[in-house]
Amino acid sequence: MSRNLLPYGRQSLDDADIAAVVEVLRSAWLTTGPKVAEFEGAVADFVGARAAVAVSSGTAALHTALYAAGVRTGDEVIVPAMTFVATANAVVFQGGIPVFADVHPQTLLIDPSDAEAKITPRTKAIVAVDYAGQPCDYDALRTITDRHGLVLIADACHALGAAYKGRKVGTLADLTVFSFHPVKHITTGEGGMVVTDDPAAALTMRRFRNHGIATDHHQRTAHDTWYYEMIDLGYNYRITDFQCALGLSQLPKLPHWIARRRAIAHRYDHACSNLSLFNPLAVRPEVDHAYHLYVVRLALEECRTSRDLIFRALRAQGIGVNVHYLPPHLHPYYQRRFGYRAGTCPVAEDVHTRLLSIPLFPGMCDQDVDTVIRAMHAVEECYAS
Ligand SMILES: *Cc1c(COP(=O)(O)O)cnc(C)c1O
Repeated sequence: MSRNLLPYGRQSLDDADIAAVVEVLRSAWLTTGPKVAEFEGAVADFVGARAAVAVSSGTAALHTALYAAGVRTGDEVIVPAMTFVATANAVVFQGGIPVFADVHPQTLLIDPSDAEAKITPRTKAIVAVDYAGQPCDYDALRTITDRHGLVLIADACHALGAAYKGRKVGTLADLTVFSFHPVKHITTGEGGMVVTDDPAAALTMRRFRNHGIATDHHQRTAHDTWYYEMIDLGYNYRITDFQCALGLSQLPKLPHWIARRRAIAHRYDHACSNLSLFNPLAVRPEVDHAYHLYVVRLALEECRTSRDLIFRALRAQGIGVNVHYLPPHLHPYYQRRFGYRAGTCPVAEDVHTRLLSIPLFPGMCDQDVDTVIRAMHAVEECYAS
């Protein structure tokens, strides 16, 4: 096995990023200081949303958004069967029941008609996941949520900087969630954010990230008082100022990084057009893709091997391929706790067995891309029948 794996994703950090963090470490405010509001404002401006609430992770952001959407015990929330477990877990944190909708076989994005078929009188919201960085069909989803009086939430952890019909991700749903984990488009180490155009929802979310307490320490200082009231159950989901300083330093580089991700993806598209084993996902013409992941579906019926053998063959050549994702409802926890069984989302249940994500991050050089493409050709020569 190669020791030097080219990972499927990795952060880009420079000296200016490090200096920005160090500057905050030398300042008076390590948390809940000026950099948090500054980072919220910068991301809100970038995506074109009116308000933003920064929290400690993308998962915390999902939980915060579901709370603001009013999801409570016994409520059902429709989530796609092709996503990271955190999307569904956040529903369970609120005592809700995740109901899985199947995905489109070519894009792996939530199938709006299956989502609508799974609505019941207990459904409160739909969470759309912009899988791999491609925005979902938000026009179709908005028609459905309007018709049934549901909240539309975007899990856009893959899609910061993407757009749908010229409208930016961050303006397409009632609440939009981003992650700043190091494999995502920009990083704060750990971190997340919810953006919204609803100022009341933003206020609710600021309270939720701070134990459900109605005022923060700035407001109490301004009024010369110690007195505070906790008016609902919240969490400590605060993010630090040095994390937000890192995010502020990273954000201006995002357009350039997305351009690089697209250039690499186009080279992979071209390579796949000369390969029969590796089928890229479809990209709809009305989207600007942010390419968090480059996912291929393996044409396993055309060869004498399995996904796991191809996975190992690529890893042996130093290519850090990965799998995104095992459908959440097939995990032991979900099978035990909710009794989900295979058969409810046949497309996701079939396609996940043939998925591979190949390396894609802005710091890859052209030779890295060549190495990946050469390894795919070697695998195809070895296995294609
Ligand atoms: C990364 C990710 C999350 C969780 O974000 P964290 O910052 O790691 O907590 C949630 N949903 C999706 C689709 C993700 O890719």
